[in-house]
Amino acid sequence: MKLLEERIRQEGLILSAAVLKVDSFLNHQVDTQLALEIGREFGRLFADQRITKVLTIEASGIQFAMAAGIALNVPFVYAKKKKAVTLTEQVYSASVHSFTRQETYQVSISQQYLGPDDKVLIVDDFLATGAALIGLVDIVNESGAELAGVGCVIEKSFQEGRGLLEQKGVRVHSLARIASMSPGEIHFVDDPSP
Ligand code: 5GP
Repeated sequence: MKLLEERIRQEGLILSAAVLKVDSFLNHQVDTQLALEIGREFGRLFADQRITKVLTIEASGIQFAMAAGIALNVPFVYAKKKKAVTLTEQVYSASVHSFTRQETYQVSISQQYLGPDDKVLIVDDFLATGAALIGLVDIVNESGAELAGVGCVIEKSFQEGRGLLEQKGVRVHSLARIASMSPGEIHFVDDPSP
């Protein structure tokens, strides 16, 4: 998605060879029109799949799952990271190791909101090591729902996430795929070769 790649070039801060900060339009302040356009793009990519639910993890996937849910005219569900006292019913859960926070946490979804009648699109902001998305894939499999695929806003293609998801047979669509980066320089997979 060219519009997204341009924003990353203009506003992305490359904190190291592996960490990109996009807080001005995606991860802290959110450009609402861009988020809606991202949702429409996921909607187009998965239009033929009869999706019944979009799934993500709190917090940074929520605005994109909501935008995709609006585009596909279906609800979205977000996995919770801490078991809230209000989550009293049976849950599906998976443990996820966070790349950015360097900690392991549990994600849970109420069994009321996901089941064998669902066809699911998983959406998240970043695909890095794939741990978060693999946790969600495991939850979808446990629920008996069908997985249509995964939609990521930004993929760091030099990390292992895409490969691990594809090994599990998961269809992955990322809107901006970063081939390599270093402070002051970023290359996308679809950049023309020099
Ligand atoms: P993964 O499980 O694929 O390693 O990454 C999970 C989460 O870590 C992503 O959903 C995202 O919130 C965060 N993350 C991973 N890499 C980056 C990065 O380079 N920049 C930012 N802002 N977040 C990242």
